[in-house]
Amino acid sequence: MTHYDYDLFVIGAGSGGVRAARTASGMGVRVAIAENQYLGGTCVNVGCVPKKLFVYASRFREDFKASQGFGWSVGEPQFDWSCLLAQKNREIERLQGIYGGLLDNSGVTLIDGKAKLLDTHTVRVGEQQFSYERILIATGGRPFVPDIPGKENVVTSNEMFALATLPKRILIVGGGYIAVEFAGIMHGLGVKTTLCHRGDKLLRGFDDDVRTFCVEEMRKKGIEILFNTEIKSVEKNENGFTVQTGQAAPLEADLVLYATGRIPNIAGLGLEGLGVELSSKGAIKVDENYQTNIPSIYALGDITDRVNLTPVAIAEAMALVNALYSDRPAPVDYDNIPTAVFSQPNISTVGLTEAEARKRYQDIDIYKSVFKPMKHTLSGLDEKTLMKMIVRQSTGKVLGIHMVGENAAEIIQGMAIAIRAGATKAVFDSTIGIHPTAAEEFVTMRKPED
Ligand code: FAD
Ligand code: NDP
Repeated sequence: MTHYDYDLFVIGAGSGGVRAARTASGMGVRVAIAENQYLGGTCVNVGCVPKKLFVYASRFREDFKASQGFGWSVGEPQFDWSCLLAQKNREIERLQGIYGGLLDNSGVTLIDGKAKLLDTHTVRVGEQQFSYERILIATGGRPFVPDIPGKENVVTSNEMFALATLPKRILIVGGGYIAVEFAGIMHGLGVKTTLCHRGDKLLRGFDDDVRTFCVEEMRKKGIEILFNTEIKSVEKNENGFTVQTGQAAPLEADLVLYATGRIPNIAGLGLEGLGVELSSKGAIKVDENYQTNIPSIYALGDITDRVNLTPVAIAEAMALVNALYSDRPAPVDYDNIPTAVFSQPNISTVGLTEAEARKRYQDIDIYKSVFKPMKHTLSGLDEKTLMKMIVRQSTGKVLGIHMVGENAAEIIQGMAIAIRAGATKAVFDSTIGIHPTAAEEFVTMRKPED
């Protein structure tokens, strides 16, 4: 028996924290978890889940239109934002209940409140104090808004999930995942949408063809995209907001969404006093075992600002708990992590971009296909699909697969397994396609680019 109240104390009941707490408790470890806001964290409450529900909602407008090409006639569709919000809230409450039940059933003690470390083995939550052998910080991140005049006039993704009314015109600032996803959502729901980015391409880090192609597709749908545009100020006026960019006429909008990245949630944790090492961006520094420079303190997920995705936080939690409490260590392999942007059309990718592959190897073949999906031969919509495969000539190994098109995320999930298994182009070529699908294109790409 240890003399601590808990063997493992987890701060933050989000994607990583809940998985670590449940799994450790299931191994007989005495676990408590503190949460000060909502069970399920960002993903369940203001991230992946409500975002995807909004994406579904926003697709119908185009589908109603497309259905006419197949013989349907529908009246003028009406959209009720308050109904969508209520439906979304009901689902989130259901998920929160499931998270609570999972913790309860696995014997984890849930403590409601904001946690602060007092020393290397003591934590305070509200008026209570607990001692622990080890503590895991999984407090995630929060939206970052740069200091501009009128910062108080803008909203972040957090507020987008609870807007009282849908604006008529929105200006979205940023060019990353959240900006691109919300541009599709808002446009689909009938909001006049302008995306304003400081750079000359969206989605830094993605393959260049994908970055160019998605802009063409978004523009075709009617989303206005402004590049090389810095926001100078956001002023409130009687109708909405006036946004100065230092270029020609100011922009006007009813709502300004800043999607300019996220920062780690370290405020109030008491880390400075303990000398926990942080990166220049305020993320907690950890080694390959998620251990900080203080041996009893661990961290994972967005608070470490490495690959900020839910499945990665979950995988890190499993790896940590297995390493600490089992004899079956299962470290996370950070290569070939698939990812998707739930834009319209979807973007999804796994493995190296063309630029990364060319930097690493001299002998690269590029297979590319741009086509009109079968559905749009009758739908009347001018949406195209891009598929791209990067192959190393000498080994035949497929190094990267990229797609912009309907269901890209669903398709790339399967491709990611092939890449992790080390599949060569010959394996793809000998795989029989499923006809008629878009995905079969990945097994019928015969000729590399010149
Ligand atoms: P979180 O899930 O953020 O959990 C941290 C928890 O800690 C929170 O509940 C917080 O309230 C709590 N907390 C903080 N400080 C304290 C404290 N001092 N005491 C007690 N509790 C505290 N990822 C995907 O993979 N797919 C997606 O489609 C996707 N969409 C996203 C959409 C949006 C709009 C956003 C913002 C993110 C999205 N993400 C997506 C990213 C994903 O949500 C995060 O990577 C993931 O939630 C990180 O999990 P985590 O456990 O590190 O932290
Ligand atoms: P990202 O890091 O993806 O993008 C931030 C964007 O804001 C970039 O385009 C960046 O430009 C721009 N930016 C940064 N600082 C400023 C500034 N001071 N002024 C103007 N523009 C600025 O962050 P997001 O907020 O979109 O998303 C956060 C993270 O959450 C993602 O990186 C991802 O890990 C996760 N997420 C995952 C999703 C998914 O899996 N589908 C969906 C949503 C979020 P530049 O490129 O020039 O730096």
